[in-house]
Amino acid sequence: MFSYRHAFHAGNHADVLKHSVFVHILDYFNRKDAPYWVIDTHAGAGLYDLRSEWALTNGEFVDGLDRVLQAQEMPVMIERYLEEVHAFNPDGVANFYPGSPWLALSALRDRDRLRLFEMHPSEAEVLKHNVAEQGRSALRQTTVYEADGFEGLKSQLPPPTRRGIVIMDPSYEDKQDYRRTLQAVNEGLKRFATGCFAVWYPLVQRREVQELTRSLERLETPWVHASLTVRKPADDGFGLHGSGMFVLNPPWTLHAELARTLPWLRDKLAVDDRATFSLTQNEG
Ligand code: SAM
Repeated sequence: MFSYRHAFHAGNHADVLKHSVFVHILDYFNRKDAPYWVIDTHAGAGLYDLRSEWALTNGEFVDGLDRVLQAQEMPVMIERYLEEVHAFNPDGVANFYPGSPWLALSALRDRDRLRLFEMHPSEAEVLKHNVAEQGRSALRQTTVYEADGFEGLKSQLPPPTRRGIVIMDPSYEDKQDYRRTLQAVNEGLKRFATGCFAVWYPLVQRREVQELTRSLERLETPWVHASLTVRKPADDGFGLHGSGMFVLNPPWTLHAELARTLPWLRDKLAVDDRATFSLTQNEG
């Protein structure tokens, strides 16, 4: 169950979509002075070396981050995402890739807090080490739990600040993750009805994907749902042909930004002529 290591996938098309949306949400939260918490239920290692053997094994960033980096003009959402990636690569070459905890740490102000869950013992160890390397301020703001994020989320909600972002990014290798994600969102909303919940999911040929998105779309809480397909589904039924982000209680700016960004991403990240996107919302 715990074979997933995000280093193999860092900077791929799914990360580009997920992290562009996440940066937009963080920027929106920073518009107000009031402090907030970020709770990341599936944190990963935090920061990835794109020159490492693992990252190079699949080279997934070549059809993701690298394509976006080569663009001359881009929508504001992508510009902001790339600013964050560049901030971790001051020499101008994208060797390091910031995962969701690092994007959060970069956004947080002094009074904001970060709660990270990572269940894989070696991944959690790297994450703790990486946070410690960031220095005292990051250590003060951040708590890393080597624990199940679906279970642990409950204990964090509502955050004392009553402002918060929950990012849920399971690997879905275990098909129970679809059910557990929905359950965690439902329980989360009961405890923290105004919280922003950002759920990533893979586009793979499994009925659980549609069951999850349909159930989320039935929620009465306002939401924005974006998906990006980069290639036709594989004949053998395996592999990721795209991904989606489902954001509950989204920033009011998110839908319009995605409407500008998704056609651009489809064109830039298309692997074949089946590349497409969808964007829907419920304004509550
Ligand atoms: N959110 C990260 C990012 O954007 O940089 C990537 C996370 S990766 C897709 C999923 C991570 O969840 C893996 O590191 C895996 O070890 C971890 N994981 C799997 N099941 C978990 C669970 N029930 N609770 C917490 N972490 C889990």
